Amino acid sequence: MRILVAEDEPLLAKQLATALSEAHHVVDCALDGAEADFLATTEAYDAIVLDLGLPKLDGLTLLRRWRDAGVVIPILVLTARGSWHEKVQGIDTGADDYLSKPFRMEEVLARLRALIRRASGHAHPEMRCGAVALDPRLARVTLNDVPVSLTGHEFRVLSYLMHHRGRVVSQAELTEHIYAQSFDRDSNTVEVFIARLRRKLGSTFIRTVRGLGYRIDAQS
Ligand code: CA
Repeated sequence: MRILVAEDEPLLAKQLATALSEAHHVVDCALDGAEADFLATTEAYDAIVLDLGLPKLDGLTLLRRWRDAGVVIPILVLTARGSWHEKVQGIDTGADDYLSKPFRMEEVLARLRALIRRASGHAHPEMRCGAVALDPRLARVTLNDVPVSLTGHEFRVLSYLMHHRGRVVSQAELTEHIYAQSFDRDSNTVEVFIARLRRKLGSTFIRTVRGLGYRIDAQS
């Protein structure tokens, strides 16, 4: 999954980016509100971590702007220690969840997993499609309960398709959600990842919908 981190403290932004990357997400960082606004409205994210105290444009202004513009991406706000009114304001303005500083990285990861899961309409923390199971908590994939070893890119492609199982996902959409902004994207490589996933998980697990993209059947 692809996450935007909007945080102006460089060390904290770096720690968040590292923790999220280790959990197999791709991350873009914005160090002020203007950059966050630009990225959130021009790039495709699966979740946003938004510090409310940002220079240039503050987090509450961004939240209001994005929700008014119909942006439905799940947003986890970071608030100053003990600032209960910030939490209330954040949620009333359109945040989906909040964390007060300081926080444990494990909690950020868990809350994001839950937000992403719910945003794609799934209640259970483990995703299961036929013989294939994906557990975002452990970044683990199994086929008939046997662990399957995947690269980071393969995991992100599979995770995105499984979160959106039952619908067709275009190559362009997949490409947007598996690479960070800085990455030199090539949508042809998506085909390579799909081919490798088919070798590892069975040739019919990911279906090609000609001219439209890929689909994992909800009941497969
Ligand atoms: Ca701040």
